Amino acid sequence: MSDGVALVTGASRGIGRAIAVELASTGRPVALNYASREDDAKEAVAAVERAGGEAIAVRADVARPDDVARMFSDVEDAFGPVAVLVNNAGIRADGLALRMSEDAWDRVLRTNLNGTFWCCKRALRSMLRARFGRIVNVASIAGLHGSPGQANYAAAKAGVIALTKTLAREVGSRGITVNAVAPGLIATELTESLSEQQWDQLVSSVPQGRAGAPEDVARVVSWLCSPAGDYVNGSVYVIDGGMTA
Ligand code: NAP
Repeated sequence: MSDGVALVTGASRGIGRAIAVELASTGRPVALNYASREDDAKEAVAAVERAGGEAIAVRADVARPDDVARMFSDVEDAFGPVAVLVNNAGIRADGLALRMSEDAWDRVLRTNLNGTFWCCKRALRSMLRARFGRIVNVASIAGLHGSPGQANYAAAKAGVIALTKTLAREVGSRGITVNAVAPGLIATELTESLSEQQWDQLVSSVPQGRAGAPEDVARVVSWLCSPAGDYVNGSVYVIDGGMTA
């Protein structure tokens, strides 16, 4: 495995935090990005340290290219170039398409899709120089199959998948892989607002009979960034307990 720091966006809680802990367990220092919840980010850094890893928290809104540029400079100052990038930061703002506001459409596309692009673009600079890099983008089964009430979210995640495949082709010859994971129903704060009825209905459509845990996603991401994933490029790994099989 090559040296270098791993940067995980949206790592103050949920799936991103689990990914940060998992990547740190492979011996890499990890930078945990967050947007606003500093206390959660500090607690996530402490979780990495309790597991024997080295970590810092970096605040940045991934939807803002200037924030992204500063975040990468901060991470490079602390640990050197970013060798592993996991674009995990994401939000939802659900509503039926006909009633969706411009703001709800825009916020979700800017964070989930534009944010992924700005981080990939900035990370590729040093990865191309190093002739090594691992990028994993966190998409969703919504980006593969659509999701009623989530036109903005599904479109953004479909965009993330197309971006992943395009970058995989653009930089594959330079020792860099770009892959995506597409989780199904994962128990985090993002899914907390579902009603009990919606939750039960979704869980009943999972052949494994349970929602996923953040760690179910984290282990696949970590595997993709390990030497075992060296020949995997431009792929989308569905992690949904069989929900869309
Ligand atoms: P979560 O618990 O709500 O956590 C979201 C994380 O993203 C937080 O750390 C948050 O930071 C950060 N974030 C939000 N906006 C940001 C921005 N503009 N810039 C930087 N960071 C930002 O969500 P999750 O369930 O772990 O989801 C993580 C990813 O998995 C998302 O991309 C989501 O779409 C995807 N996913 C989730 C599920 C699921 O069922 N949970 C299923 C499929 C895909 P702050 O707290 O500091 O704001």
